[in-house]
Amino acid sequence: MFKGILIEKDDAGYRAALHDIDESQLPDGDVTVRVSHSTLNYKDGLAITGKGPVVRKFPMVPGVDLVGTVEATSHAEYKVGDAVVLNGWGVGEGHWGGLAQKARLKGEWLVPLPKQFTPQQAMAIGTAGYTAMLCVLALERNGVTPDKGEILVTGAAGGVGSVAVAVLSKLGYTVVGVSGRPEESDYVKRLGATEVLERSLFSSPGKPLARERWAGAVDVVGSHTLANVCATTKYRGVVTACGLAGGMDFPSTVAPFILRAVTLAGVDSVMCPRPDRLVAWQRLGLDLDVAKLDLITNEIGLAEAIPMASQLLDGKVRGRVVVDVNR
Ligand code: NDP
Repeated sequence: MFKGILIEKDDAGYRAALHDIDESQLPDGDVTVRVSHSTLNYKDGLAITGKGPVVRKFPMVPGVDLVGTVEATSHAEYKVGDAVVLNGWGVGEGHWGGLAQKARLKGEWLVPLPKQFTPQQAMAIGTAGYTAMLCVLALERNGVTPDKGEILVTGAAGGVGSVAVAVLSKLGYTVVGVSGRPEESDYVKRLGATEVLERSLFSSPGKPLARERWAGAVDVVGSHTLANVCATTKYRGVVTACGLAGGMDFPSTVAPFILRAVTLAGVDSVMCPRPDRLVAWQRLGLDLDVAKLDLITNEIGLAEAIPMASQLLDGKVRGRVVVDVNR
């Protein structure tokens, strides 16, 4: 038996609770992992609360991230005792995830735990941090270098935003954060932002084009915010879009793209091919100041993940939440 959060949906309704689970219930897979830590991402918040259609099969163990050691394996690349990390691949949505003491997975989904990070640090990064790195890589791929100008990061006090600010500032970019929580401005500045702008400047309908300011952007919010970010991005600037914390819609015009040659680069972490994941994790090992992870991270026990899910969706959680599944 092992402990895990189970999400159930039946005539009694949608609910998440801590359970003792029999190992025979684990799904198919060629690697069994003894999980040490997981995390809470925005998507886990949607899954646990049922506020978004994330879970595709019931019962489901949520948790799109996990770190742990291999306990049993028939996969050629892994042996018992290896430290491994998992992010995404539909885990916690259609396949049992990381908010439990054990998981059974496909070996091809796993990546080795990078040597630079402890298991806790890898989860402090988690899907949010690895997605932030994918955004940085997309900016670089599209030619945005530090000399090109300021980079805007929306949702800066959240998980993706915090890691994006920390990485971009270490790489020498001038970073401007956007946050709806004035009380977190100092936190975002300690991560490396030179300025923090109020969320309301971006969240209402704006003009198709406005004063050019940003060489690049990392947007986790979507909706009017993404439209306004595109409208204020400089000629040939690059906007990476990875989130929908403010809405799924994109009420923009083509003006920024056809008159200012702005590039809108979509970023997805879930189905991102393994070679790109390995690059992202390798770059996190080089370009993220691990000392800043302490500032970014709160650690909680497994049962606490359930109430924390609502707080996360309400935008009340700062940075990243690491879940010690054995606590
Ligand atoms: P968090 O909840 O940690 O952070 C989101 C932040 O967005 C909040 O902290 C808040 O920052 C801001 N925010 C929240 N609600 C609103 C709102 N209504 N309007 C404007 N800003 C808002 O989530 P994550 O950082 O983990 O994820 C951020 C987004 O990125 C989510 O939509 C998530 O689904 C998406 N995502 C996508 C991935 C992909 O593969 N494409 C992978 C990971 C995440 P502040 O208080 O500073 O304003």
